[in-house]
Amino acid sequence: MKAVTWQGIHDMRVIDVPDPRIEEPTDAVIKVTSTGLCGSDLHLYEALAAFMEPGDVVGHEPMGIVQEVGSAVSNLEVGDRVVVPFNVCCGSCWTCGQKLYSQCETTQNHEHGTGASLFGYSKLYGQVPGGQAEYLRVPFADFLPVKVPEGPSDDRFLFLSDVLPTAWQALKYAAVPEGGTLLVLGAGPIGDMTARMALREGHRVISVDLVRERLARVQARGAEVLDLDEAEKGDGVAAAVRDLTDGRGPDAVIEAVGMEAHGSPVATTMQKMATLLPDALAEPLLKKAGVDRLAALYTAIDAVRRGGTISIVGVYGGAMDPLPMFQMFDKQVQLRMGQANVRAWTDELLGMLTDDDPFGVDSFATHHLPLEEAPGAYERFQKKEEGVVKVVFRP
Ligand code: NAD
Ligand code: ZN
Ligand code: ZN
Repeated sequence: MKAVTWQGIHDMRVIDVPDPRIEEPTDAVIKVTSTGLCGSDLHLYEALAAFMEPGDVVGHEPMGIVQEVGSAVSNLEVGDRVVVPFNVCCGSCWTCGQKLYSQCETTQNHEHGTGASLFGYSKLYGQVPGGQAEYLRVPFADFLPVKVPEGPSDDRFLFLSDVLPTAWQALKYAAVPEGGTLLVLGAGPIGDMTARMALREGHRVISVDLVRERLARVQARGAEVLDLDEAEKGDGVAAAVRDLTDGRGPDAVIEAVGMEAHGSPVATTMQKMATLLPDALAEPLLKKAGVDRLAALYTAIDAVRRGGTISIVGVYGGAMDPLPMFQMFDKQVQLRMGQANVRAWTDELLGMLTDDDPFGVDSFATHHLPLEEAPGAYERFQKKEEGVVKVVFRP
């Protein structure tokens, strides 16, 4: 089959790889009909390269049709239409019992000290072949895949794999009080969707990004927007947001940017240096001394009102990140973060999508492309060129 593979920094290639097959009686194999490109894939493209191996099949936002099921699978039949959450989780261990699916004890990666395995997401997360491919092996098939109805086109349901539950969890963790104000840093797919959801709940939303067309998307749905570059010409984002919130700051901030934030020159150089080292040197360096680009997180800490909540949904990977503990302690900041527990939210969200499109998912993707165009799509998505916000591949 054809699959998008990582071959090196900035080097994704679509090549022929062996078809996946049933390896455990609890597996299913799906024929992928749509599969998303995510901001998280961009970390593999560059910053986390030390944990990738040439040939790794990437992608973690797939949906499709069940092609084959293992002998122990009873909930799923050939021909079912399913979306696959990005966490590989068993559904039956202690942490899964707590709905902490991104921490599944059955698939945790003890060698690296990390949580549940993820599809297509490096050695840190199990090196599980990913979903930007024609076919995908899905473990724990009685629990993991989300069956979705026939009828609407793929885009209605595809974002249940990541964007919708991730944005939903970020919003729940932000605990915005009724009638409160939420600052959303980043207007990529995740920040955009979070803003849409918060607006629907009746919150006031202020979105920040440096890409004009991304801001225009959230503005069209009712968010107030701040251009990062413009704000930096003044006293910065936090001050601009205070001006908009009675000098107090927003009740909550969702940080939807992550470890490659714009405006972190020193850490950018460090990350680039690490990617130039051989893996054997870069891997321990990134794990023990890795530093994230913290510009957005600093803004969140500065901007949030005293006693407010910061919900970090952007992915971080560093181990020695300098944080302003005095400011965080003194302001009584509440902090929540983590990889989304996708399966915890999918039933609730699916119920909202079956007859309606409250979050505008039908027109959320900016580009639908064949898998063969993945290398160029990664490049344009990273450089934020040609209006690329959300790419969906159709293998
Ligand atoms: P993205 O890279 O398209 O979005 C990031 C956005 O932040 C971009 O639009 C960029 O212009 C903007 N940005 C950069 N620096 C900024 C700054 N200093 N201030 C404000 N905005 C800034 O990706 P995405 O798909 O929207 O993902 C966003 C983040 O969420 C990534 O880190 C991704 O890995 C993470 N993510 C986390 C989970 C999870 O489970 N926690 C799931 C999916 C994605
Ligand atoms: Zn994703
Ligand atoms: Zn589990």
